[in-house]
Amino acid sequence: MDFLCPTTFAEALAIKAERPDAVPIAGGTDVMVELNFDHRRPAALLDLTRIADLREWSTQDGVLRVGSGVPYARIIEELGEQLPGLAMASRTVGSPQIRNRGTVGGNLGAASPAGDTHPVLLAGDAVVEVASLRGTRLIPAADFYLGVKRNALAPDELISAVRLAPAPGPQQFAKVGTRNAMVIAVCSFAISLHPAEKRVGAAVGSAAPTPRHAPAAEEFLAGELDFESPKPLLDSVKRRFGELVAEAASPINDVRGSAAYRKHALAVLARRTLGWAWQDYLGKERQCA
Ligand SMILES: Cc1cc2nc3c(=O)[nH]c(=O)nc-3n(C[C@H](O)[C@H](O)[C@H](O)COP(=O)(O)OP(=O)(O)OC[C@H]3O[C@@H](n4cnc5c(N)ncnc54)[C@H](O)[C@@H]3O)c2cc1C
Repeated sequence: MDFLCPTTFAEALAIKAERPDAVPIAGGTDVMVELNFDHRRPAALLDLTRIADLREWSTQDGVLRVGSGVPYARIIEELGEQLPGLAMASRTVGSPQIRNRGTVGGNLGAASPAGDTHPVLLAGDAVVEVASLRGTRLIPAADFYLGVKRNALAPDELISAVRLAPAPGPQQFAKVGTRNAMVIAVCSFAISLHPAEKRVGAAVGSAAPTPRHAPAAEEFLAGELDFESPKPLLDSVKRRFGELVAEAASPINDVRGSAAYRKHALAVLARRTLGWAWQDYLGKERQCA
C-alpha cells in the first residue's frame, strides 16, 4: 500500500487528482477500523495530518470556518461558546482518545447516518467546503449526504472546511444509546433556534438512510414560537413538535433498536431539547429586559 504524505493542501489536491483511488486519512478513527477488519484494502492512503491549514479555524465575514482536520477535543475547548450545538455533539463522540483524533471532516467523509455531528450541521445550516484542482465548491449540508455512507464528494475532491454561523440562538443536541459513552447513536436529534429570522432548524440522525431535516416540524414550530414576547411553551406544542420530528424519520430495525423505538425516542428527544432550548431563550430574554 502506498502511504502518501503531503505537507500542504495544494500538494494533497494534486495527489488526489492523480490518484483518485487514494483514501484520505485524518484522525483515522474510521479508516483504521476498516483496515483492521479488512473491510477495505485501498491501494493508497492519503495522510492529511501533516497539513497544518486543515487544523485551523477562523472567522471570516462573521462566519466560522472550521478546518476539516480540527479534532473534536479542540471544538469542545475552543468553540463551545460560538458553536454550542457542535460542541455538545462532539462531547458525545466516542472516548477522550477518539475525540483527540477524530474530526468533523472525517465524520463527513464517512457519512454514516449515525455520525453525531450531522444533525447539528443540518440544524445550523452548515456549508461543507470541498476542493480539488478544479476549484472550490460550497455544498449545503442538506445536499451533502446522498445515501448510507455516501456523500457528494467527487473522487478528486477533499473536504477543506465546514462553514457555520456562530449560534444565532440556543442550540441543543441529544442522542440515545445503550450507555453513556463509546456508543453509536440509536437515534439523535439537533435543534437550533434562529430568533432574528423567526425560524427553527431541526434534524434527525441515525433514523433514515441519511441524516435529514424535519421540515414539517421546523415549519410548525416557527409558527408557534413568539420570539418577540416569549412565553412558556404549552405541552401540546412540545408534543406536536415531537410527533412531527418522529414523522420525518424513516428508521430501520437493526441490532441497535427497532424502527418503532427510534420513532418513539426521537419524539421524546425533540420535546426535551425544545424545552431546554426555549428555557434558555426565555432566560436570556429576561436578563435583557
Ligand atoms: C471507538 C470508536 C468510537 C466512536 N464513536 C463515535 C461516536 O460516538 N460518534 C460518531 O459520530 N462517530 C464515532 N466514531 C467514528 C469516528 O470516530 C468519527 O466518524 C470521526 O469523526 C472520524 O474522523 P476521523 O478524522 O478519525 O476520520 P478518518 O477515519 O480519518 O476518515 C473517515 C472517512 O472520511 C474520509 N476523510 C477524512 N478526512 C477527509 C477529508 N478532509 N476530505 C475527504 N475525505 C476525508 C476518509 O477517507 C474516510 O472515508 C467512533 C469510532 C471509534 C473507533
